[in-house]
Amino acid sequence: MERIIDGVLKFQREVYPRQKAFFEALSTAQRPQALFIGCSDSRVVPELMTQQGPGDLFVVRNAGNIVPPHGIAPGGVSASIEYAVAVLGVPDIVVCGHSGCGAMTAIQSGGEQLKALPAVAEWLHFADAARRAVEERFAAEDVPTRLNMLVRENVLVQLDNLLTHPSVATAVRAKELRLHGWVFDIATAGVETYDAQAGRFTALERASLAGAI
Ligand SMILES: [Zn+2]
Repeated sequence: MERIIDGVLKFQREVYPRQKAFFEALSTAQRPQALFIGCSDSRVVPELMTQQGPGDLFVVRNAGNIVPPHGIAPGGVSASIEYAVAVLGVPDIVVCGHSGCGAMTAIQSGGEQLKALPAVAEWLHFADAARRAVEERFAAEDVPTRLNMLVRENVLVQLDNLLTHPSVATAVRAKELRLHGWVFDIATAGVETYDAQAGRFTALERASLAGAI
């Protein structure tokens, strides 16, 4: 924890003074470019991987980058989505999975690891459709390949779940909001994005925007 406190002090002493006017202007309002829904994993840092700064991303992170469907007891994820879309009017939502995801690994282990973690187990039920899809379609593949597929299927399931939220469905239909499914590779910084027209993940580039939902 000492390193973290030292970081705060360093930020106040060295970083903040150089950007004082920026932070003062930022203090009155936010207008983020996107809602970024990612995993809590410490190695997946939204602002770092997208090279954005304060005020740019409205971020929700949880184990497994999960979006509970609308209608389940309201929680932090649903409230943050509603606020980002209906109040802040974000034009884009990114759901970002990643390589080596502990939550997806736990699902893949068949629940053995989850017996001692009831809260995690219950939370990860929101990825059941992804687990089922991988079991049905990729049963013959080896474990690492199946994990990669599970990470991707989970991103797709959470995009489906996003569309059950009335604020999201309404804005997408009005073409005021686009949805993006990403997978980040920790070791290489590679990002794949889901091309909804082609029905597959491809390397992210500017042209990828045409395949957004
Ligand atoms: Zn993860």
